[in-house]
Amino acid sequence: MAFPIEKFKDIETPFYYYDKALLCKTLDTIKAELAQHPDYHLHYAIKANANIDVLREIQKAGFGVDCVSGGEIQQALDAGFDAGKIVYAGVGKGDWEINLGLDAGIFCFNVESLEELEIINELAGAKKKVAKVCFRINPNVGAHTHANITTGLSENKFGIAMEDMETAIQAALRLDNIEFIGLHFHIGSQILEMGDFEALAARINELQDRLEEQGVTMQVINVGGGLGIAYDDPDGKPVPNFKAYFDTYARNISLRKGQQMHFELGRAVVGQMGSLITRVLYVKQAHVKKFVIVDAGMSDLIRPALYDAHHEIQNLTGTGAEETYDVVGPICESSDVFGKGETLPACRRGDIMAIRSAGAYGEIMACRYNCRKLPKGYLF
Ligand SMILES: *Cc1c(COP(=O)(O)O)cnc(C)c1O
Repeated sequence: MAFPIEKFKDIETPFYYYDKALLCKTLDTIKAELAQHPDYHLHYAIKANANIDVLREIQKAGFGVDCVSGGEIQQALDAGFDAGKIVYAGVGKGDWEINLGLDAGIFCFNVESLEELEIINELAGAKKKVAKVCFRINPNVGAHTHANITTGLSENKFGIAMEDMETAIQAALRLDNIEFIGLHFHIGSQILEMGDFEALAARINELQDRLEEQGVTMQVINVGGGLGIAYDDPDGKPVPNFKAYFDTYARNISLRKGQQMHFELGRAVVGQMGSLITRVLYVKQAHVKKFVIVDAGMSDLIRPALYDAHHEIQNLTGTGAEETYDVVGPICESSDVFGKGETLPACRRGDIMAIRSAGAYGEIMACRYNCRKLPKGYLF
């Protein structure tokens, strides 16, 4: 990627740079794929990146939003998204959050327990409204990804167990202020093996057959998100393989007539277009290795510390012969490391570095640990 380094020089580091051209190219690719499948609907998972300028581009592309909190519903509305395209999941929806969803008129609540179903019914009743509901089913399907981002196993807190699916649906059908419309799933994140999605599709077919035998029909099958990105090759694979992803579902799920399939992609939409831009503060020659100390830390991008993630690191202004460094931040934690044994053009104080593939779960997860300023995000 050719970075607009001249523009970077006037912006206080660290900050997130979002490449508008790549975001638009990614959105166009998704739109072109979805055009092949008129029954498919995409809800962007806003928890990946809720930067308002990024959201406006996604909104312009015509997609809906997948939210996991009232704050996210509000942010989506503020960005101009149509409430009728918002879906709302989460194991712990508070009353004010449910009320916000009801007042806005969101498309669907993805309900994760019977206890929650009854509260939604009660709150909807008080407003003389009917809430549309999908049940989030825990399909007990694993995913080849980091344990902290696996969500579809029986041991995870998410969703309703398959054994309890019929009980939940029967309860929903009895409630006056609930309209049951379908099933929801989400097995995890950063999934690159299409076989994992095939396994989910097979499970969904089983469940759908089982329900049909009991006379239960559904308008919506929501398969969640989870498509991964190439963290090791942001320039070679800037746009994820959406074709393979959608085709996998098209080949493996038997949709009934008139049924809609919904998707909730987050990382795949915004991951590759973002970089954390940081400056070199010091190059420290220790006894066993050289450290490049940059002004961004784990408070700005927590993925390496939280998920053992590795993001490609580039010295955008270095011109000298390559050397090997550990690239670390200024935070008082030993896990504040962006990369070990990185080979980079010789680094000097003031060099500008890019930590790549940071458009998803970057800025939005930043915190103020060590009383630091929050990094800003810029789309251009
Ligand atoms: C996080 C999340 C997503 C998006 O996951 P990605 O891996 O970013 O695509 C989708 N649905 C639900 C319910 C989620 O919690």
